[in-house]
Amino acid sequence: MMEVLKYDVVVLGSGLAGMRAALEAARASKGRLRIAVISKLHAMRSHSVAAEGGISGVLYPKKNKDNERLHAFDTIKGSDYLADQDAVQLLVKNAPNEIKLFDHLGVPWNRLDDARIGQRPFGGMSVPRTAFAADKTGFFMMSALYDTLLEFSNVDFFHEHLATAMIMNKNDFKGIFTMDMATRDTVFFSSGNGIIATGGFARIYQFTTTSYSSTGDGIALAYNAGLPLKDMEFVQFHPTALIPSGILITEAARGEGAYLLNAKGERFMKKYAASKMELAPRDIVSRAIYSEFAAGMGVTDSRFGDIEHVQLDLRHIGDRDIDEKLPMIKEISIKQLGIDPSKEPLPVRPAAHFTMGGIHVGIDGNVLSVSGKKVSGLWAAGECGCVSVHGANRLGSNSLSQCVIWGKITGEKAAKRALARSKTTLPLVGRLYDEEGKINILLTKNGSESPYEIRRELWAAMERDVNVYRNNAGLRRALKTVHELKERFKDVSVEDKSKVYNTNLRDTVEIGNMIGLAETVITGAINRKESRGAHAMHEYPSRDDKNFLKHSIMYKKKEGITLEYVKVKITNWKPEARHY
Ligand SMILES: Cc1cc2nc3c(=O)[nH]c(=O)nc-3n(C[C@H](O)[C@H](O)[C@H](O)COP(=O)(O)OP(=O)(O)OC[C@H]3O[C@@H](n4cnc5c(N)ncnc54)[C@H](O)[C@@H]3O)c2cc1C
Repeated sequence: MMEVLKYDVVVLGSGLAGMRAALEAARASKGRLRIAVISKLHAMRSHSVAAEGGISGVLYPKKNKDNERLHAFDTIKGSDYLADQDAVQLLVKNAPNEIKLFDHLGVPWNRLDDARIGQRPFGGMSVPRTAFAADKTGFFMMSALYDTLLEFSNVDFFHEHLATAMIMNKNDFKGIFTMDMATRDTVFFSSGNGIIATGGFARIYQFTTTSYSSTGDGIALAYNAGLPLKDMEFVQFHPTALIPSGILITEAARGEGAYLLNAKGERFMKKYAASKMELAPRDIVSRAIYSEFAAGMGVTDSRFGDIEHVQLDLRHIGDRDIDEKLPMIKEISIKQLGIDPSKEPLPVRPAAHFTMGGIHVGIDGNVLSVSGKKVSGLWAAGECGCVSVHGANRLGSNSLSQCVIWGKITGEKAAKRALARSKTTLPLVGRLYDEEGKINILLTKNGSESPYEIRRELWAAMERDVNVYRNNAGLRRALKTVHELKERFKDVSVEDKSKVYNTNLRDTVEIGNMIGLAETVITGAINRKESRGAHAMHEYPSRDDKNFLKHSIMYKKKEGITLEYVKVKITNWKPEARHY
């Protein structure tokens, strides 16, 4: 059964970006608009609850010897000069007010003795500017937002509704097609104003710090609707994921003073970033760890399945600071490995963590079409919207700022547009039945391919060939594999034919999305013949500003992927060599 619901604004995704967008739309609407927040999970299970280390922003310029210009410079240098500098300037200008807003909403920030919000050092940042609530920052920010939103009677939550298509009419957004996980009924959210806030896609890798839900659905929906994606080749690998699970050990551990040690017990970062050491940006630390592995300096230990790793040593930080500032890390290490980090180093290695690329948007979060024109009534915010503040490599704690700032911007824009145009949109009935038909076919056909086997092979190819260091032959092999998997996916079978909470069906939809996105990651990587930020190529070890100081743009045509490039916006900071 299909239901059609009309809303003035629909927000797809209830992570930090989506809920911040809904809050701003609700505030701007003063009760005059109806707003839907749709999430494939319960809102409070969105990936953002797992954010650990904190949120960046210049709070106390004098006391911390900090300023917005320095935050902007750190971010741009960290991005290996691929960030759009006007967007970075907007980020640093708005971040302090967002942190203060969350203070008012009730986030229990760690505080200094004089009651100021505490800020800690993070990778690539010149001064301590990461505000934090222990190592559960995301959870507290999400709780504050969710609790606040529940007070608005014009905001409706649709938990556990899986979006399977974005409906467009030429350059106009028309709504979101979803499936209610509890019943398998389909629901079309008809609206002229949509905000996509569906998070990143690092789950195209098996060894990842991200949730199982980080499958990039909204990015795939936009791509399938013919919209362009930007900078997809840049996937961030976080240097310190616990083995064998991939659970993150936040960079805040190094911010609080933890060391990285190789098999000889040396702090090897002195060879790669002598002044910043363990607090160099993530691209540099992850490359350094792989260089140590290549030099035979990796550690193995039969207790952890002999997986090659390095050690993260927190012992000298002391119990008091660990308990106050990193309690979750301690709990995770004890529960997962039986190791108390105040007594023994933790075994860690790089894992896929964050995706810098995503839906091509302008500085106001408005989704852009292939011709660069604004798509009417459609915005993207958070990890899925590539507004280019992170360029080729994100600095830790800049994502939470990005999520809430562009959540606010897009929520306000969508509400203003909805208030200015009262006409409701009519659903395109034929398109909707097509979308329902696709789900029915997926559920009823008896193909010969298991989605899980396809995912296993995708993960293996991505781990082996599209990792921290890449090379031409490996990337081509991975692309061939992905093309084969795409073909095989046409014959995929959903074994579970039931209607209620059919996770087999949901997984299959997500795996289809992941294959499409993996193809763009590899295509972007093959064509970027340089090393920049998270994209490190054996054959081209240096950055090449002459040929590649540009964003890649990919979109789908019948004959395959079209790849083009657009300029990086440079305002004040000319690209220069990065030394840390
Ligand atoms: C372990 C970990 C710790 C991190 N810590 C930090 C940190 O301390 N500081 C920092 O700056 N960054 C951190 N990051 C990055 C940061 O957490 C993310 O970039 C950010 O939370 C993304 O938020 P989001 O709102 O864009 O998306 P998400 O929080 O991922 O939310 C996505 C939403 O979209 C919904 N959705 C997705 N697909 C569909 C679909 N098909 N149908 C319906 N709904 C859908 C989901 O249900 C969810 O509600 C961390 C990342 C990881 C992996």
